[in-house]
Amino acid sequence: MIRNIEKLSKEHTLDPKNWDNLIALGHNMLDDMMNFLKNIRKHEIVPISEEVIAKIRQPVPLKSQGYEETYKEFLEHVFPYPVPGMHPHFWGFVMGTGSPLGVLSEMLAACMNSNGPNYFTPYHIENQVIEWLKEILDYPQDASGVLVSGGSMANFTGLAVARNAKAQVDIKKQGVQDIQNKMVLYTSKEGHKCLTRAIELLGLGNESLRLIPVNEKFQIDIKSLETAIKEDKRAGFHPFCVIGNAGSVNTGAFDDLISLADICEEKDMWFHIDGAFGAWAKLSSTHNYLTRGMERADSLAFDLHKWMYMPYEIGCTLVRDKEAHSKTFIYEAEYLENIFERHEAPNYSVQLSRNFKALKAWILLKADGIEKYAQIIQQNIDQAYYLAELIENRHELELVVPVSLNIVCFRYINENLSDEKLNDLNAQLLMHLWFNGMIPSYTTLNGKYTLRVSITNHRSIKEDFNNFVEEVVRIGNSVLSNQIE
Ligand SMILES: *Cc1c(COP(=O)(O)O)cnc(C)c1O
Repeated sequence: MIRNIEKLSKEHTLDPKNWDNLIALGHNMLDDMMNFLKNIRKHEIVPISEEVIAKIRQPVPLKSQGYEETYKEFLEHVFPYPVPGMHPHFWGFVMGTGSPLGVLSEMLAACMNSNGPNYFTPYHIENQVIEWLKEILDYPQDASGVLVSGGSMANFTGLAVARNAKAQVDIKKQGVQDIQNKMVLYTSKEGHKCLTRAIELLGLGNESLRLIPVNEKFQIDIKSLETAIKEDKRAGFHPFCVIGNAGSVNTGAFDDLISLADICEEKDMWFHIDGAFGAWAKLSSTHNYLTRGMERADSLAFDLHKWMYMPYEIGCTLVRDKEAHSKTFIYEAEYLENIFERHEAPNYSVQLSRNFKALKAWILLKADGIEKYAQIIQQNIDQAYYLAELIENRHELELVVPVSLNIVCFRYINENLSDEKLNDLNAQLLMHLWFNGMIPSYTTLNGKYTLRVSITNHRSIKEDFNNFVEEVVRIGNSVLSNQIE
């Protein structure tokens, strides 16, 4: 007698009872999504209200409220308030725009729900994408690579390999506890904060990341770097790595990568590059010279969700020394034997289960072609220089730093106001711009509050920048006259 049979008299599943209804709902969703993107230029950017937030706060749903009802709620309370990175007037931070085909690719990947070994396609598609990325970025073809969630994870991954490869102890076995000569590494003051966090998580302590001063172009000052390394050596520390910035987040500055590569080679240090968005300058006919030396990095971190316009999340780490890479992350477990004999990805990243993010990269690269991406990246660079010219032609505005890539840093000025007053005025100006649906962000450069337009947007057109400058001057003038009153 089988006792448990009773319990199974009614079995449950998440598949729908009525497939036709779900398919119809799916078609509606698709229509709604594509129409939203089609009309994105007319989308009014509105921040979420307290009222909507209150509506989102609800008790744990115990019973089904149904598919249609849930989708209706999504349309009412969620969909209207995206982070509007896909809007043609969004140039804040370094925000990705995604693309309509990217949305569909995500859906295809979700359907395959793949998290698997080399017996199936996801492994081979990821390999193919990595091969392409190496070729596009001129990185050595025998390097290893892995797709990760984004720039932060890509940097963390590269720096983990750097730490293990250059430690004077067996880090995997002993951890950082037994290190005698404190490991130190270097990047410029303009380095992204995710680098600091990576170093903290790697157990090295953020003091070990030396933040080197920059020159007037916001590039790492090579002399200061060399002095710092020398002094650290003299003090008994172990300088093991230099992190180059290929496109800094504040201004888009590129360090002199060739000099950094030379220094690392000479001193037997690991050369890591944070090329989150900037690595893609490789595709620009006017600015690819900036990336010279990138191919010499021991590890290169970048993402595809910012300047390659792919939907979040997708980033990549390439590592010149395959073995150093897999030694760091190798994953040996009886329950996975056979599976990993040829499947290397889990040996290259922190994650075991991973979504099939390679699929969107594969589809988008094939469907659009890399030349299209090169054109739009070039267009963004040209737009940045165009905007800079518009700014230089207005006496009310000044560039705070010359444009070097796709980021324009400027401020509203008035000769009767102190720097402090100007900081205040520009902060107010930014808020007004946001409320008017134009979204730059800000940073502080040499103590000056600076508006920052970072163009990684395939939807912006010349006209948007003409209108933007008009708005900045109009609102700036009005804030100014309020201040004077
Ligand atoms: C955005 C950015 C990062 C972090 O990347 P995420 O994808 O946001 O994790 C790192 N470095 C630079 C220069 C960036 O612009």
